[in-house]
Amino acid sequence: MSNSPEALEAAHLIDRLERLARAGEQVGRLNPAQWDALRYLARANRFSRTPAALADYLASTRGTVSRTLASLESKGYVFREPSDRDGRSVKFVLTSDGGKALKRDPLLAVATDIEQATGGDVAELLDGLRRTLRQAISRNQGRMFGACFSCRHFLANVRPSTRTSHNCALLDEPLSEADSRAICVEQEAALG
Ligand code: SF4
Repeated sequence: MSNSPEALEAAHLIDRLERLARAGEQVGRLNPAQWDALRYLARANRFSRTPAALADYLASTRGTVSRTLASLESKGYVFREPSDRDGRSVKFVLTSDGGKALKRDPLLAVATDIEQATGGDVAELLDGLRRTLRQAISRNQGRMFGACFSCRHFLANVRPSTRTSHNCALLDEPLSEADSRAICVEQEAALG
């Protein structure tokens, strides 16, 4: 199947933007793989902060991801603790230094570029990018890692006026408002 010139140009633009974002990551104490891991841990829910889930998200290998996490740990940006779902495996959590590092994330400059280029009206761009990502993930048979509130297992407000008012029907776990916005390795898009 041949692509339209416009689709091909859009693919080149995404590739160029990605390279420019990566160029900003070469300065400082973190390499691009470490930035990827820190960003993921900041966005993922408590069931998804395992090396296996991170490897899935980055389409990387478990060994590569484990080395990245070990090096972030030695720099004091993350620490490990037993996984919520399986006591034999571990999950990684950001330290306060890890959270501070993300305030200097080079990707923030790209977000600023997007705001300025679109005049703050990002909805259409976001929709196109989401649908493109969905296609690419389906072609690679990967997981979506969507936001929890958009999952078919998400049950909203089953405990009104409590700190964990929502529930996960798949894992049978309580969920807070912050959990509902986090990304999850088990997320499956709600129909419709
Ligand atoms: S509702 Fe879906 S996205 Fe949320 S924790 Fe459960 S499986 Fe994950």
